Amino acid sequence: MDIVFAASEMFPFAKAGGLGDVMGSLPREVARRGHRVYVFLPKYKWIAKQKFGLSKELEGIVIPMGSEQETANIFSCAWNEVTVYLVDHLEYFGRDYIYGTPLGDYPDNDRRFTFFQRVVLEAMKRLRIEPDVLHAHDWQAGLLPAYLKTLYRSDPNFKKTKSMFTIHNLAYQGNFPPDSLSITGFSWDEFHYDKLEFYGKVSFMKAGLVYSDVITTVSERYAREIQTKEFGAGLEKALEIRAADIHGIVNGINPEDWDPEKDKALSKNFSKQNLSGKEACKEALQKHQRFKVNPHVPLFGFVGRLVTQKGLNLLIEVIEDMMKLSWQLVVLGTGEEKFHSALRILAARHPGQLGINITYDEKLAKEVYAGSDIFLMPSQFEPCGLGQLIAMRFGTVPLVRDVGGLADTVSEFELESGKGNGFKFSRYKSSDFLKTMNHAVEVYENRKKWLRLVKNCMESDFSWKESARRYVALYERAERKALKS
Ligand code: ADP
Repeated sequence: MDIVFAASEMFPFAKAGGLGDVMGSLPREVARRGHRVYVFLPKYKWIAKQKFGLSKELEGIVIPMGSEQETANIFSCAWNEVTVYLVDHLEYFGRDYIYGTPLGDYPDNDRRFTFFQRVVLEAMKRLRIEPDVLHAHDWQAGLLPAYLKTLYRSDPNFKKTKSMFTIHNLAYQGNFPPDSLSITGFSWDEFHYDKLEFYGKVSFMKAGLVYSDVITTVSERYAREIQTKEFGAGLEKALEIRAADIHGIVNGINPEDWDPEKDKALSKNFSKQNLSGKEACKEALQKHQRFKVNPHVPLFGFVGRLVTQKGLNLLIEVIEDMMKLSWQLVVLGTGEEKFHSALRILAARHPGQLGINITYDEKLAKEVYAGSDIFLMPSQFEPCGLGQLIAMRFGTVPLVRDVGGLADTVSEFELESGKGNGFKFSRYKSSDFLKTMNHAVEVYENRKKWLRLVKNCMESDFSWKESARRYVALYERAERKALKS
């Protein structure tokens, strides 16, 4: 089959979070199963021609944008068995960030990502790619399924094309004022509550949900949760209508990208047979954070966006108690200013015990994953979550809230049977979070049990194998439907 992916992130070209990781591995896994795979991505400023061996593929693709026109070029490169096409437009994508500055989203994200998507369709025509499946990811690609069913409905290039839309995070919806509709080129018929209209706005996410042939999201639990009021972010009704077409497929991680035995970012490598390198990583992390070097103090780690979704309120509430218990905590992330300042104030009070690193740093992230004992993810909601998977790969035990992908990938460690790979709590309450940490530390102090648990983590299989197989099965199912219709 010919499969085209469209997304706003793909590691190592561009990554802001889990979407980048997924795009960095899933297309390759699909290609390895014998399919022709193409990925479309905006050409951001830092995607340097030389570093990625880019060559110019197409020139002068003209796109109507409301009453104006804009022109794109396409660069391409081969990357891990996949052809990557980069949509080049200096004004839209030659900026410092993917979505916005620390002060907020770029105000013209509707234009930027409408343009991206229309170029994807026009470029496929020029390149004579007639995909069996167009696999669109998150709101930045949410209009694509809608274009296929409206403006491109009778385009022979897409005669056989079925669309799949994957929700990586329903909370980011790409909702814009009604005027945006004129930029997209859709008729006003689309501004209707059972189409693109969402509480008076044009919703790119809703477009994907309404118009795609197949909907997937990144864990089975989240697939069920988003059909409820608590997790549906207002779209639960739109999702309920599509219930029969929604599938939950858990994300994997690429074991070669996260490998404690080979990773050069670590001060010492280690494996589940020989964990002495992990102790060295803990020591290095303690030194780096200016903590007291002590192998016996429980060291907690947090890596992620510092936003409400990730449970920052809970984390900040428990820090004083954690400090009283003489534990150590390393936090790495960037996000909302109010959390930055709250964490900075706490760090000033607890030097040598609390390390706050407000930055995006992939090397330091690996040091935290490898050097911590316990990895915290007290998320309010979590579509899949990759942090807990990466932590386990590095022998760090996840302590998570029992939601979304965290619920599907972490199983409670049972002292008696020695089964399970982490700790979970259910209610979004700091007292429950702290209680679970205390329980984890009790287990931590029982070396034999702890080593069993660490091994369980390192033996858990989070490779893409099974999940990629499920995606391909859905592509094939969509293709069979296309042949019948
Ligand atoms: P989300 O996509 O909601 O941000 P995920 O857990 O799915 O969360 O994926 C987050 C990814 O981004 C992980 O690979 C994590 O290591 C990485 N990451 C998040 N914050 C940072 C940071 N400050 N520095 C380096 N990597 C980070």
